[in-house]
Amino acid sequence: MQFQFRTAYHQWATYLLMTVSYFVLGKILTAFAFQDQVLPIWLPAGVGLVGVLIWGWRFLPGLFIASALFNWTTAHGNTFSEATLSQQLQVSIIALGACLQGLVGGSILRHWLGDPLRMRTRKHIAYYIFLVGIFCNLISANIGVFSLSLFNPEYQFSHHWQNVVAWWLGDSLGILIFTPLLLLMLDAWAFKQHSYHRSRNVFATSFVLFLSVVLTTYLYNQGNVQAAKREAQRELRLIENLLLQQVNLSMLAVQGVAAKLQSLSEVNADEFHQIAEQQRARYPFLRAISWNVRLDQTQGNALQEKFDTLYDGRVKLKGLPLTPDDPLVVVTYISPQTENFSALGFNVYSRENRKQALENSIIAVQPQATDIIELIQSNTPVPAYLLFSPVYRRGATDPQADILGYATAVVQTDTLLGSALKQSQAGSYNIAVYDGNEAEPFYSNHALSAAEVAAENLFETRIQFGGQVWRIKLELRADFVASLNHRQTVLLLLLQLSITALIIFIVLLNNYQHYELNHLVEQRTQSLRQAVEDAERANQAKSRFLANMSHELRTPLNAVVGFASLMKTTDSFDTLQSYANRIDMAAKTLLNLVNDILDIAKIESNHLVIEQHDFNLQHLLGRIDSLFATSAADKGLQWQLNTNISGACWLKADELRMEQILLNLCSNAVKFTDNGKVTLHCEVLHGDSDYLLTFSIIDTGIGIDYHKQPLIFAPFTQADASTSRRFGGTGLGLAISKELVELMAGELTVKSAPGQGSTFTFALRCPFGDAQLAQNIEADPTLLKGMQVLVAEDNPVNQLVIKAMLQSIDVEFVLVSDGQQAVDACQDQAFDLVLMDCQMPLLDGYQATALLRKRFTQQQLPVIALTADVMPEDKTYALAVGFNSHLAKPLERDKLVQCLTQYRKS
Ligand code: ADP
Repeated sequence: MQFQFRTAYHQWATYLLMTVSYFVLGKILTAFAFQDQVLPIWLPAGVGLVGVLIWGWRFLPGLFIASALFNWTTAHGNTFSEATLSQQLQVSIIALGACLQGLVGGSILRHWLGDPLRMRTRKHIAYYIFLVGIFCNLISANIGVFSLSLFNPEYQFSHHWQNVVAWWLGDSLGILIFTPLLLLMLDAWAFKQHSYHRSRNVFATSFVLFLSVVLTTYLYNQGNVQAAKREAQRELRLIENLLLQQVNLSMLAVQGVAAKLQSLSEVNADEFHQIAEQQRARYPFLRAISWNVRLDQTQGNALQEKFDTLYDGRVKLKGLPLTPDDPLVVVTYISPQTENFSALGFNVYSRENRKQALENSIIAVQPQATDIIELIQSNTPVPAYLLFSPVYRRGATDPQADILGYATAVVQTDTLLGSALKQSQAGSYNIAVYDGNEAEPFYSNHALSAAEVAAENLFETRIQFGGQVWRIKLELRADFVASLNHRQTVLLLLLQLSITALIIFIVLLNNYQHYELNHLVEQRTQSLRQAVEDAERANQAKSRFLANMSHELRTPLNAVVGFASLMKTTDSFDTLQSYANRIDMAAKTLLNLVNDILDIAKIESNHLVIEQHDFNLQHLLGRIDSLFATSAADKGLQWQLNTNISGACWLKADELRMEQILLNLCSNAVKFTDNGKVTLHCEVLHGDSDYLLTFSIIDTGIGIDYHKQPLIFAPFTQADASTSRRFGGTGLGLAISKELVELMAGELTVKSAPGQGSTFTFALRCPFGDAQLAQNIEADPTLLKGMQVLVAEDNPVNQLVIKAMLQSIDVEFVLVSDGQQAVDACQDQAFDLVLMDCQMPLLDGYQATALLRKRFTQQQLPVIALTADVMPEDKTYALAVGFNSHLAKPLERDKLVQCLTQYRKS
């Protein structure tokens, strides 16, 4: 396949542009890739295919560089210095995949299916769509995904087919849609002829398909993203409720402890530990529970003494009151004790935030929480909050005065929240919980960095409990949306691929039919134009022919008219005879002309037939020789007959026609030669079953221009318009001769050079003739004397001619002037023969003969047709009606004598 570029510059520029466009299109498409990273149309695949279609393997270097560069910069940015071997290998393998795919698809097109916009059959178009457009694209997809999986842990081998399908779909849509577009664009700019003329509909369809696939996929993805967001909102509500439930649970837990402590007459260590452990066993998020007794500052020393006895002096009261009026709220018991021992003796009221919570709990009459605190008991700090639930004296009326202390719970937030969030779809979202307006979350299910989160994917809410406010942030994970949508997107793309393949199939088919139709119309228009030109040429030739013919006719007519009028003025017998001879010659010339025209008419209606009879070639050559010896000598030319036959040579052929050919060729040779020599060369080779005759007519005349040589055999044409002026002629001779030679299964050829002469040659095969069978009728007019002939002829001039001819040979005749009279005459009198004109009034010659044949057989009464109708069908009709034979008008005395002799009853 050849794509012709306008110039070498266009070709190089196209190569470069296509390489660059592979890279640029890839970049643009990646930039606009949808949320789930699916590229619905990978246009560069179309660039690769068209490149290989145009240049074959020569496009591979460009393709490799463009693909490798694209993949490198997309994966690793613009730095090349730190390239590792595995990174290099990865992009190289992907680029090799792209090259291999381009090579296979492009080669199928180049060497088998051809240009997609010129495909010949439905089958080819179907092969293009399925093999090149769809199937081949598995190559790059498989190799590419394999390479990614080999070097990148995030591309798992287990997801191989899933990834291949997405890649493959993008490539397939890219090739089906972009290949025709690209070819049409190149055709408009770079290719030599606009070969895809009128393919605008292909362009428009491909373009609309491109837009529709991109838009549908985009809108579909948008829809999916919106749905995912709505889902996320619902999830946020759910999480909010779950968290509220959990924190309420923590409040319930501490309230439970408070209620139990309140029911005791006095809180002692054993009972406290029992209650606390029971509650902790029920609520795993309770890291610790303490009893914090509330006293006035004056009771501090008594408390210290109590601690000394309780804890063997290991617990000291700590935490100075913030103001002199503040009460002391001191951790008296704590469970589990061992790991929280250091907390014992601590005045909780000494810390501002806890003081606040403690006071609020009395006002709100329900547990209050502190801010999030870090527990430092374990190796890593654990976020937690403290919950204080006031415990009153039994039968208390004044909450301020009757308060004994606080049941306090240390709630570990990760245990509290973690167990709740497990019930939600937390795996699909990034969740973080913040204390008040803190910037850092105290709980999150991932390493969330605020900067990374796109605003539209972030959802936020607040919950309030125990005097605290928490913020919950939920982020939609991109990979979650992708995985959620992947299957549906692939199905959508599959659907789009099927529709695209079908539309492209129809468009290509329609395009080809359109192209074929145009081509056909152009061809037809061309041949019509040719036909019109031919007709015009033929018309001109015929006009010229008529002009020539008129001239050709006038010359002999001039002789006839001139000498006939001269004859009237002279009595001298010799002069009269010379005039009569000239008139005779002119008449013969006229007859020849009329015969030529008839022959051409027969040729044109395919009616020219060749007869076969036995004759002696030597006689024929003798006649030609004597004729041209004279006419050549008259022009001062040498004439020579060259032949290898010395004696009689009997052939079976059409003697008259063979003579006609030789007469034509020899008279042309003499006519077109002013000086020098004319030679007739005749060679006869004796074969096994026939003779091979070769005739050459060689002259030293004006010759024929090489380019004109094919023209001279066409009827009415002469090599040169000036020929007719200089030499006369009608342009029929060669056309007739050529046709005759061909009817005799030979070929007439010419070799000629202007000014050097011409050689016309033809060869014929003729069966051996038999001298015995030759019609050798001795035409002796004296033998006809006394013959009884009936002549039926209505035309007075013709009557005069025949009368004179019959009288000149002493034949007795009766002359009648219509068919009826002829039939009547035959009833009255016995005749040896009837000469019957065909066109007569009353009863024409045919009807009369038919009647006669009812009474007389052909042997009993020969009837000869006298007719000017000389076409073969006329002859056939005449014979069918009952005529024995026919004599053509104008009548020649010799032929009449010959005919009468043939039917003379001896
Ligand atoms: P005509 O001789 O009546 O013009 P022909 O059909 O015999 O018609 O020949 C056609 C043309 O071929 C002639 O007009 C002449 O130009 C050319 N031609 C034929 N024979 C010769 C020849 N022997 N030498 C040169 N030109 C010839």
